[in-house]
Amino acid sequence: EKGEDAAAKVALNPEKWLEFKLQEKATVSHDSELFRFSFDPSTKLGLDVASCLVTRAPIGQEVEGKRKYVIRPYTPISDPDSKGYFDLLIKVYPEGKMSQHFANLKPGDVLEVKGPIEKLRYSPNMKRQIGMVAGGTGITPMLQVVRAILKNPDDNTQVSLIYANVSPDDILLKKELDRLASSYPNFKVSIGVLLGLLSCHMGDC
Ligand SMILES: Cc1cc2nc3c(=O)[nH]c(=O)nc-3n(C[C@H](O)[C@H](O)[C@H](O)COP(=O)(O)OP(=O)(O)OC[C@H]3O[C@@H](n4cnc5c(N)ncnc54)[C@H](O)[C@@H]3O)c2cc1C
Repeated sequence: EKGEDAAAKVALNPEKWLEFKLQEKATVSHDSELFRFSFDPSTKLGLDVASCLVTRAPIGQEVEGKRKYVIRPYTPISDPDSKGYFDLLIKVYPEGKMSQHFANLKPGDVLEVKGPIEKLRYSPNMKRQIGMVAGGTGITPMLQVVRAILKNPDDNTQVSLIYANVSPDDILLKKELDRLASSYPNFKVSIGVLLGLLSCHMGDC
């Protein structure tokens, strides 16, 4: 009964595809959008840091009477303790199957989600220093870990993040990363575009 109680308090189920409603979406860059999905506001998502979840959509034709699904993993960037919603930051590829599906979702539409899938079990102060290198939407798992560290005043981990992008227009969540770096002395971020990083590498800066 205790187990059932605990399971009832989280929205995700690692064994079952569950439907989550799109609450709202917002443009983040020329090709990336933030999607907020909602669930019972009295529950948490049920995701340990660092984890992702998987999404599926019935894209393509039926094969032998069976529905064919496209399945892709994504990394929530909202606080796992938030009740009633989670956020995904997604780059929309012009011919990407799942990202185009996301781009076509309207508020009120549902998405099937399963998870979480644990990538690394983070525990506070497990390392004195962590260096992160990310490119493009690879920022999402980094942000999940960074936020978990910074929101815990007892976690003294020093985090340095190098975030590379193809062009300045591709940089995601720059304001948020700069805000975190100026609010928390244990977080440093260097954001650059590939040409800039290359010239740094060649001793140009
Ligand atoms: C653990 C994990 C977490 C992730 N988290 C995120 C996240 O938070 N946010 C995020 O945006 N992404 C994330 N991803 C990536 C995500 O899972 C998808 O790979 C991404 O959204 C592209 O999927 P898609 O179906 O839209 O594109 P796909 O249909 O898979 O295509 C991707 C690109 O490749 C091209 N392409 C496809 N097939 C071919 C081919 N045969 N030859 C040449 N080009 C081809 C397409 O045109 C498109 O440009 C994560 C991946 C992993 C593994």
